[in-house]
Amino acid sequence: TDTSATGAVAGDLRLVNVTKSFGDFTAVNDLTLTIPQGSFFALLGASGCGKTTTLRMVSGLEEPTAGRVLIGDDDITRLRPYKRPVNTVFQNYALFPHLTIADNIAFGLKRRGVKDVRKPVQDMLDLIELSHIGNRKPSQLSGGQQQRVALGRALINRPQVLLLDEPLGALDLKLRRQMQIELKRIQTEVGLTFVHVTHDQEEAMTMADTIAVMNHGRIEQLGSPTDLYENPKTTFVANFLGQSNLLPGKAGGTVADKAREHVQVVLQDGTRVLVPSERNCAAGEEVIVGVRPEKMSIHASLDEVPEGRNVLTGGVVTDTSFVGVSTQYIVKTGASEDIGVFVQNDGARIFRPGSDVVVSWDPSQGFGLDGRQDIDAG
Ligand code: ATP
Repeated sequence: TDTSATGAVAGDLRLVNVTKSFGDFTAVNDLTLTIPQGSFFALLGASGCGKTTTLRMVSGLEEPTAGRVLIGDDDITRLRPYKRPVNTVFQNYALFPHLTIADNIAFGLKRRGVKDVRKPVQDMLDLIELSHIGNRKPSQLSGGQQQRVALGRALINRPQVLLLDEPLGALDLKLRRQMQIELKRIQTEVGLTFVHVTHDQEEAMTMADTIAVMNHGRIEQLGSPTDLYENPKTTFVANFLGQSNLLPGKAGGTVADKAREHVQVVLQDGTRVLVPSERNCAAGEEVIVGVRPEKMSIHASLDEVPEGRNVLTGGVVTDTSFVGVSTQYIVKTGASEDIGVFVQNDGARIFRPGSDVVVSWDPSQGFGLDGRQDIDAG
């Protein structure tokens, strides 16, 4: 169902060069984004980066200073909120306290003049798994159950796009994890576009097909959870999604190695390591070598390191924390003061603080970043 030369599909949600300014402050800065119909999309970023403002321009609560919002080819930029095929679920459930769960859910249907609401309300109660308590009032439900009702109420009129603004923010961690799986199941069953705003990277990674990492009103990087995790393009994304060891260095030239191009990087203590590279790097160019802590191994000496790995010698363990399935080390080396190394506790030996160690990783497991960025961003 291609609708235009742009390749957009009928129900895709599109933001085209959208900017929102409040006075001389730019909250959303020239954002262009296509969210495919039926996808679970997460807008991820720290507080104040412009996520909620972006959602509010989709729902119609805020008008862009510039740019357009479209669903398929329909320009909805200036359409009244209630005329948009869009609904929102908020963190504070905003249920009607005097109505039963079933009546809360039926509300949207009745307002549209639907006569027989019994069947669709029952189907919705089944979907959100609250059929057994449809007659209760909201005050008789747990937080997680109330959030399900809010979801049911927002979905009952089948909006094309459902916006979720930190919907799980008020729930405790365990319930949050349960609801994340639940939300994903419901989205898959109804097949509608979900746009989920969160500052919790784990939440975004658990649920979304695609994540847009926002920073200062712009999209820093867009991709699948694995894509963003394994190939962050900026130090901000590398630090914001999980932890990264970021080692500054200078390119020493490109090396064709196995299947992939690698760049040799000289770290600040002179250690040479290889890092995968999509582009050619001129010798002397600044490069940051990134490695996730769980991709690194720790050894008592150099002879224990298998062939072909990048190696940092002369390390000293400065901290050891046992966290159940893994042990997390902080290692001081010449290349960096505090390298994180996470090791599975499957009988591996434990190194105490003060131990002399060697750290290694497979070159293909690292990533290279432009060295002119702030290493602590994010
Ligand atoms: P949070 O997770 O804290 O809600 P957010 O990423 O959703 O953050 P927004 O709520 O979109 O961020 O706000 C982005 C920036 O725009 C913030 O600095 C905020 O102070 C500012 N802002 C939002 N609404 C207004 C407004 N009506 N007037 C002035 N500034 C605003």
